[in-house]
Amino acid sequence: MKGSNRECPVLYLVVPCYNEEAIILESARVMKEKISELIQAGTIDKNSKVLFVNDGSKDKTFALLSEAARKDDSFIVVSLVGNAGHQNAIWAGMMTASKADVVITIDADLQQDINAVADFLECYRNGAEVVYGVRNNRESDGTFKKLSALAYYKFMHLMGSRILKNHADYRLISRKVIDALKEYNESNLFLRGLIPSLGFPSDIVYFDTKERIGGETKYTLSKMLKLATDGITSFTIRPLRIISFAGFITMLFSIILIIFSFIEWLQGKNVPGYTTLLLVTLFMSGIILLSLGVIGEYLGKIYLETKSRPKYLIDCVISAAKEAEDDD
Ligand code: UDP
Ligand code: MG
Repeated sequence: MKGSNRECPVLYLVVPCYNEEAIILESARVMKEKISELIQAGTIDKNSKVLFVNDGSKDKTFALLSEAARKDDSFIVVSLVGNAGHQNAIWAGMMTASKADVVITIDADLQQDINAVADFLECYRNGAEVVYGVRNNRESDGTFKKLSALAYYKFMHLMGSRILKNHADYRLISRKVIDALKEYNESNLFLRGLIPSLGFPSDIVYFDTKERIGGETKYTLSKMLKLATDGITSFTIRPLRIISFAGFITMLFSIILIIFSFIEWLQGKNVPGYTTLLLVTLFMSGIILLSLGVIGEYLGKIYLETKSRPKYLIDCVISAAKEAEDDD
């Protein structure tokens, strides 16, 4: 039975790829080498594979990958229609890896140390259904990325989220977890928050990060901001509560102000306070607009959820094994 094979599971490495032509062949080589090594060692089943999800790349990534997959049956390419985004690409990979007992998701750029895979599998053998890769160092990141990451974790913490610090999407999940995830239809996907909330037994593996071996980061500022807001709005409504609380406090203050001005009016004093008035107005308009924005963000998410559109569309799947089947 699938999922029961703890000693020698079928492993699928799921690799999202977006415009990675500069590095993809080198990554494929390294990943295949790792898989072969683990098969040799008897750690994983011989049907283990590397599954690339081409996330609507506009460069030669798809051409390179499909050529590799036609020649070598350790590779499978699932090509999506358009750029669905990193989280959705990972999701697509996990959902397509139907023959896998365990899936490990890893970035295409080899920044995450591939040798940690063996440790992931060991934790799985010892009973973990989820194994989180947590990075030891952030040296390979620029100052902006370091600072924004720090601010992000602080903010997420304040907002009441339980995400693991310095864990990106390098993780192992078992068949059980994949099947559980299938029940979650949310289109507002933030795996780093969703997976811990499932509550399966988990473990942590620490690994070193390296520089990208080539190409550039595909996480533009706007993609980072989207991930950050998705992370908050997908599993906490604390910002909405904060707004209500802020509203309540301002209301209290204004009651005090009203009483105060009324007394002054009774005493016949004229308040000159133009600056105060201006500041209060500006400050309040700021808060109101920000609050409307936050509410709008949630409303937008509800709008998207109610549509329940698919998270990704598959254009084609390429694998040597499939070609052989088709030939029959
Ligand atoms: N990626 C993707 N779709 C996107 C953006 C990124 O599939 O829209 C992939 C990318 O190819 C890489 C992984 O997600 O395999 C992480 O991206 P990147 O290395 O650029 O992010 P960083 O490590 O700089 O945060
Ligand atoms: Mg990277």
